[in-house]
Amino acid sequence: MKVPQLDLGQQQQKLRNELSAAVQSVFDSQQFVLGPEVTKFEREAAEYCGVSHAIGCASGSDALLLALMASDIKVGDEVITTPFTFFATAGAIARLSARPVFVDIDPRTYNLNPEHVESAITPRTRAILPVHMYGQCAEMDPLLNLAEKHRLVVIEDAAQSIGAQDRNRKAGTMGSIGCFSFYPSKNLGAAGDAGMVTTSQATVADRLRRLRVHGGAREYQHDEVGVNSRLDSLQAAVLRVKLRYLDLWSESRRQIATRYTQLLTSANLNVEVIPPFVRLDGKHIFHQYVVRVPRYRDAMMEHMRQRDIGTRIYYPISLHLQYCFAYLGYQVGDFPESESAANETLALPCFPELTEAQQQYVVEAMESFQP
Ligand SMILES: *Cc1c(COP(=O)(O)O)cnc(C)c1O
Repeated sequence: MKVPQLDLGQQQQKLRNELSAAVQSVFDSQQFVLGPEVTKFEREAAEYCGVSHAIGCASGSDALLLALMASDIKVGDEVITTPFTFFATAGAIARLSARPVFVDIDPRTYNLNPEHVESAITPRTRAILPVHMYGQCAEMDPLLNLAEKHRLVVIEDAAQSIGAQDRNRKAGTMGSIGCFSFYPSKNLGAAGDAGMVTTSQATVADRLRRLRVHGGAREYQHDEVGVNSRLDSLQAAVLRVKLRYLDLWSESRRQIATRYTQLLTSANLNVEVIPPFVRLDGKHIFHQYVVRVPRYRDAMMEHMRQRDIGTRIYYPISLHLQYCFAYLGYQVGDFPESESAANETLALPCFPELTEAQQQYVVEAMESFQP
């Protein structure tokens, strides 16, 4: 048996005709950038997320950049975020010559630990940027309370968590701006790069719409300097087809996660291979099913590879230890939870079409591991 970490081929097989028709209609229209297909997708995605405005853009990384620009984050401003995330979260902050201020994670959820946030707030702090890792929302209420108390903006990195919930609120709708990625491997994946920002404030939405077209309110008229970050019509057409299946796929992922946890528990593996912690007051959409292997993660990964099982590490280096952030002055040991997560976590194969037999094979492989 062979079990890839992610297999998009089966989804493509099922949607082949629908996707081909959608793509063909964009070619027939010869409208390739923004246009009616993008407007329709924005309306449908806003409705899906339960937010007034969705603005398509070129990638999740650009969504973060646009959100920070629309929040007036400028040179020297501090933005509090997690060091345990994809590079783009902190990269977007640094790209604006603002300063990423890292705060350690909750070791159970891998999300920003709200308890450590307040002591990181200084007079230069402008925003808090929590990430909803692996498909589970960060604990938003304490963060929103702190933001209100200190008059800070909250920007959510919901790139891995479209449709996830914190209590009954969806990811990307709780802060002032939500950022989404439709990178092909995300739960809602385009056929290339694509992203989106969401907001409930009309003035912020207008600003985001201008910023994605070089800051122009009208053609050739620029009140501020923006970027070129528009959503392609082809991507919007693909995303409109896939959005209709998203809840079904997320439900499958949730079932797969429940089954993994059952299998790991009944194999008595759950001391050496710790299943993910799932908050009861939320909805996890399992972008990744990530276990913690405290003692021999790398050897386990190699053992799985020899059995044709794909696993991945998201992410192997805590961002405060990245070479490009050396100027921030962080040291090894500054964020122990983030550092041990980088050393101990392992993402198992997880995608809607994964079969029960494949899951059994994965867990049996873990059982057969001899340290
Ligand atoms: C994927 C991802 C991004 C960036 O999205 P791109 O579309 O690849 O630019 C940002 N943050 C997180 C947490 C992500 O997982």
